[in-house]
Amino acid sequence: MIPHRRRILAAGLALPFAPQALAQSCVRTVSQTEGPFFKTDTPLRSSLLEKGSRTRLVVAGQVLSAQCRPVANALLEFWHADESGEYDNKGYRYRGHQHADAQGRYRLETIIPAEYPGRARHIHVKVQAPGRRVLTTQLYFPNDPTNRRDGIYRAELEMKLSKPGEGAFDFVVDA
Ligand code: FE
Repeated sequence: MIPHRRRILAAGLALPFAPQALAQSCVRTVSQTEGPFFKTDTPLRSSLLEKGSRTRLVVAGQVLSAQCRPVANALLEFWHADESGEYDNKGYRYRGHQHADAQGRYRLETIIPAEYPGRARHIHVKVQAPGRRVLTTQLYFPNDPTNRRDGIYRAELEMKLSKPGEGAFDFVVDA
């Protein structure tokens, strides 16, 4: 009896999709150039809003590993152009970094940046799991007419906008 039972167990393990079906996999977020306006030593803050900021935008989501597990305490660095399409290269307007929570969640409060010549409207971001490789990429706005004229724009980097001013995006990084 015992050898027979062993054979059944062995056959069960040999099923073609047994362990793989249980392992989840998430596609790593595409990386993009950081562009010419990245700056280090930004303030730690999740709101980049300034006095008098209009066209408010909230971007929220999760940082995940390639196994689709939340990346607790991931570092996220955001920077983008202001309402005139200019970057603040002297100070830190519309620049800041934050850490994801224990579930890998982040929330950024800012404005919808203006587009600038030659580029689709975008938000720059760097995301890093603790001690791992930095992902540098950019987020885009769905249905924005500026997407079409930009060779760097990638559809898979579009945020989901539930309504204007409320964006969602999940990052998948090495963790
Ligand atoms: Fe840019």
